[in-house]
Order: sequence, then structure tokens, then C-alpha cells
Amino acid sequence: VLGRLAHAETADLDEALAAADSGFKIWSRTPAFERYKLMRAAAALVRERADTIARIMTTEQGKPLAEAKGETLSAADLIDWFAEEGRRAYGRVIPARAGGISQIEVKEPVGPVAAFTPWNFPLNQVVRKLSAALATGCSIIIKGPEDTPASPAELVRAFVDAGLPAGVVNLVYGVPAEISSYLIPHPVIKKISFTGSTAVGKQLAALAGQHMKRSTMELGGHSPVIVLRDADVERAAKVMAGSKFRNAGQVCVSPTRFLVDNGVYDRFVDVFTTAAKAIKVGSGLEEGTTMGPLISERRVEAVSALVQDAVQAGAELVTGGKRFGNAGYFFEPTVLSRVPKTARIMNEEPFGPVALMVPVDGLDEAIAEANRLNYGLAAYAFTRSADNAARISGGVRSGMVSINHLGLALPEVPFGGINDSGYGTEGGADALEPYFNTKFVSHLQVG
Ligand code: NAD
Repeated sequence: VLGRLAHAETADLDEALAAADSGFKIWSRTPAFERYKLMRAAAALVRERADTIARIMTTEQGKPLAEAKGETLSAADLIDWFAEEGRRAYGRVIPARAGGISQIEVKEPVGPVAAFTPWNFPLNQVVRKLSAALATGCSIIIKGPEDTPASPAELVRAFVDAGLPAGVVNLVYGVPAEISSYLIPHPVIKKISFTGSTAVGKQLAALAGQHMKRSTMELGGHSPVIVLRDADVERAAKVMAGSKFRNAGQVCVSPTRFLVDNGVYDRFVDVFTTAAKAIKVGSGLEEGTTMGPLISERRVEAVSALVQDAVQAGAELVTGGKRFGNAGYFFEPTVLSRVPKTARIMNEEPFGPVALMVPVDGLDEAIAEANRLNYGLAAYAFTRSADNAARISGGVRSGMVSINHLGLALPEVPFGGINDSGYGTEGGADALEPYFNTKFVSHLQVG
């Protein structure tokens, strides 16, 4: 037992709602430059405290300490970037059709936000929503991840210590469905942002729709990786193995379906498998560990069942495939080869350390398979041909496409999906827009 977590009941949520309401009145009137300074101060505190916060995160979530430290420092970068961007949230002057009229478009903060975030990136998932809200003058109630509650609390503490007025940021934990069904319809809340599974996202988006609340949905994925004959196959395999097993595959943009041209299939699978076997599974707090445990027993059971089903359907188990050790929630880095499309794992998000290898005959077949599922979050490809790269970036239906490297999730670039992977972006210049109302003011000067 690491600690005890208070679960919010309705009376606590009412308190948070009243606080967010009064926090919004203060924060929306705080000049953008003051908001910027305070956010930068909070980012500096997060950097100063990075070692402590990372250790807390690893203790609760399991990822290797270096990954937790990287996530913490990147949270500080995200705060800085959103703080800067908030100073540039310009409106517009629209030329009028007659003299004496001024027409302006003004960006106003949408109001108190309700945000729901998961356990896989305890800080990163909170910080994108929190920073966008604060940069635009909104207050926020965060329903954080019950599995990993303490590092998000440290993030909020950095803002409190930096001098954020009371009520602007509120953090609650509890029974997720109870909290979302109370907060989303509540008249104080004007915007919803959710990161998590597609199934839950659809329920919350429907509820938000019933109450005409704006929402951003960052949901699951099943990322294809296209590897063509003309690719640097060794590099592709090494880069992708590093990415696949990061955070034990519990990543919405984790590369999952490897669609590898027949001509280079065996070589790609070999190099990838060698990299998978070199992974050191263990406690994230131990020196040298490169992959920690899954989050819960539930996830170990779910991933095991998906692997067993794939093998029964005809997939070849190249390495891994089962629980690692006899304590905790560790799972072996797993490679399955020639996985049939009928296997459940080719259709459901594995959200674990499992790579699915599928031989394809050329680019057309690869693109068709990439687009077969209704997910559309991230896609990756490896090719030396500019022509093939253009066909991939134009032909693959996905919110993000990264070719020949891992180029996703920086603060300044868009982050979001399409179709069952959700809608809206949580990165880049457009990430502020969902937190604004656009007001048009037309003024004829008289007298
Ligand atoms: P889950 O569906 O039980 O929960 C996923 C997340 O949604 C959790 O953070 C949970 O607290 C929240 N949630 C669940 N019901 C909710 C409700 N009614 N209202 C508000 N929040 C609610 O799944 P899990 O076993 O915790 O995680 C596994 C699945 O979740 C994965 O298969 C993956 O698809 C998804 N997931 C996605 C992300 C992501 O980054 N997109 C992160 C974590 C989990």
C-alpha cells in the first residue's frame, strides 16, 4: 500500500463546481500576460521537482524511471508552450461594408472545463488539458486516474505553489462513471475533454451532445506501420521496437500492426525480435530496466487472452506471449508473426507489449490493410521513396502520420485522431481553439 486516496462524493463535486465557477470569474479576467507568467513559474517548479515527481510516477505506474523523468520534463515543456501560445490568441478585424462600422471577432474563454484522464501517462494526459484551459482563461475540474493519482497531484501542487488563485484548478478522484455523469450535464461545465478507451469516449461524447457541451475525445488506436522494400529495414525495426515496448505498449499511438513487404519481411521480423529479446523487464525503479509491468491484473488477463486467441487463429508466436515472472503484472515483450485478420487482436486495441507482424504484397495492399479498421490515430511508414511517402501520407486515413522516424507528440504539433480514435487536437496552435468561444461584435459609431 503506497497511500490512501479520497473518493469524491456528490457533495465534494458540488464544492469543486462552485470553486471552478468562482475560479473562472477570476482567471478569465486575469490578463493573458499574467497568466503566462504564472504558468511559466509552475513549469519551472515542475522541472525543479522532476526527480521527485518521476519517482512517484514510477512507484504508482511502473514505467522505468527514465521514462517517468522524460514525461515530467516534457510536461514542463508543454506548460511553457501553451503559456506562450495563450499570449498569441488573437482575434480578427473584418473589413466592413460601410463606413463607421467596426467588425471584430473576439476569442473568449469557453468556461469551466471537466477533464477526464487515464493512467498510462499520468502527467502528460493531464497537462495538455490543464495547460490549454489555463492559457485561454478557463478554470478546470480534472478527474484524474485513480490507479496513478499522486503525480497528477504534484503537477497541480506546482500551480498552487506558483500562486494560481483558488478555484482555478480542481482535482478529484472517485468512481469514474459517477463523476462523469454528474459533471458533464452540470450547467457550470461548458467543455469536456476525455482521454481513454473508444467505448467510454462514445458514451461521454453522447452525454456531452445531449447537453450541448463541446467535447474533445482522444481515444484508442491500432496504429499501422508500413515497411516497404526500399526502406532502411534495420533502422526501421530498431526504431519501432523501441517505440512498441515503451510504457509496455500502453500507449494510444503505440505501433501495432506491422505491414511489412514480403521482400523484407523475414529480415524485419528478425531484427525486431532481437531487439524485443534484449528488453529488460523489471521494476521501473531498478537501474537498467527498459520495460515495467502492465498497470493491473485486469490488463495482464486481457493481453494474455488476445495473444492466445491469435495463436489459436493461426498466428506464429515468435517470442514472449505470457506473464513474466510469478509476481506483479509483468508481461513478456511479444512478437506474433503472420497474424490472420480474423484474430481479435488484429481488430481490438491490444494496449500491451505485443507486435503483430503481417506480410504484405506492395504498397496498395499495405494501405488497404492500414485503412481496414475504423481507428485513425497514428500511422508510421518506412520508405526511401518520396513518391511512396506521398502516397502514404495522402492515402492512409489517420490523424497523424510519421514517416521514417518517430515524429509525434511534440507540444507544437497537432495531436489527435479521426473516426473511432476521436476528434479534436491536443497539441499545436489549434489546441487552444476548443477552449474558446468566438464572439462577433459589429459596432456602428453614432453621434
Ligand atoms: P477502461 O475503459 O476501464 O478505462 C479507460 C479510462 O477511462 C480510465 O482512465 C477510466 O478511469 C476512464 N473511465 C472509464 N469509465 C469512465 C466513465 N464512465 N466516465 C469517465 N471516465 C471513465 O479501461 P482500462 O482497463 O483502464 O484501460 C484499458 C483500455 O483503455 C485500453 O484498451 C485503451 O483502449 C484505453 N486507454 C486509452 C488511453 C489513451 O491514451 N487513449 C489511455 C488509457 C487507456
